[in-house]
Amino acid sequence: MDLELLHRTLDELGEPRFRGGQVWSWAARGAGGYDEMTNVPAALRAELAERVPFSTLEVQHTATSRDGTVKTLFRTSDGRPVEAVLMRYRDARRSVCVSSQSGCPLTCTFCATGAMRFGRNLSASEILDQVLHFRRIEPVDHLVFMGMGEPLMNVEAVLGAARLLPDVGVTHRRTTVSTIGWLPGLERFAACDMPLQLAVSLHAPDDALRSRIMPVNERYALDEVLASCRAHFARTNRTVFVEYVMLAGVNDAPGQARALASLLGPGRAFKVNLIPYNPTGVYEGSSREVIAGFKAVLEEHGVRATVRLTRGRDIDAACGQLAAKAAAA
Ligand code: SF4
Repeated sequence: MDLELLHRTLDELGEPRFRGGQVWSWAARGAGGYDEMTNVPAALRAELAERVPFSTLEVQHTATSRDGTVKTLFRTSDGRPVEAVLMRYRDARRSVCVSSQSGCPLTCTFCATGAMRFGRNLSASEILDQVLHFRRIEPVDHLVFMGMGEPLMNVEAVLGAARLLPDVGVTHRRTTVSTIGWLPGLERFAACDMPLQLAVSLHAPDDALRSRIMPVNERYALDEVLASCRAHFARTNRTVFVEYVMLAGVNDAPGQARALASLLGPGRAFKVNLIPYNPTGVYEGSSREVIAGFKAVLEEHGVRATVRLTRGRDIDAACGQLAAKAAAA
């Protein structure tokens, strides 16, 4: 729901300010339409249904994985593709992965979104509507900004959406913003007053390899990005998660694990998340054994590490895969 349009419309109709809060509170708790908002006068509900579309996004395609993961491809009102994923875990966690941009202007070589044309930044309402879509299916309690786009290139909309997430059931501590290390946005993020989690995508233990697979490294090199993350940890005492996608024969050798460990150092500042790769055509994913070996080397050097559970492999759940397919069809 376009919240700016909602508030403007309520003002034009001469409605008191609290009406906006009532409408939002219903939407945030998973209402399926204005009709359900029983404490809002029926005439006003009808007026809003005419003037403020219930969502800024239209569902174009939904795929459900054998493991319960649901991926939805939306279109914005100006026809831009947006993807979001609901991940269901055995421990009952329900995590939504949202997009912050339609397409992405960065060109990480392992990423389907990076191969698409960049559309535009999404508004805070378009980000929230991805979450609300899934909230209408079931309660959700975790959120990651790891879908299409670099969230910190659109930092104001991302923080604007994050501010309202507790109303939807997702606390700030259970909200993770994942960046490739976009430094101007990282500074703004670090200055915000919400205890959000930070994840940084490294994917390589040295500048030469990182520049090859993530051209943005030419602009913001590893040491600058890590210095900024350390400063964030020193200020907030919140561990920074290091995302590392495991590409067979590219970044998964034991020597590269040692180099990564020496880059990060032991201690609580960083925790590495090793990500099994959903192949997108250019690279192969590392085997389970290689990933386990990489993790063991990190741990031997005092670096905490986990392997991310893979979700939705059978439905192209990696960022941008569905939209890229739809664009090619
Ligand atoms: S990995 Fe993220 S930053 Fe890189 S191209 Fe894909 S969406 Fe953009």
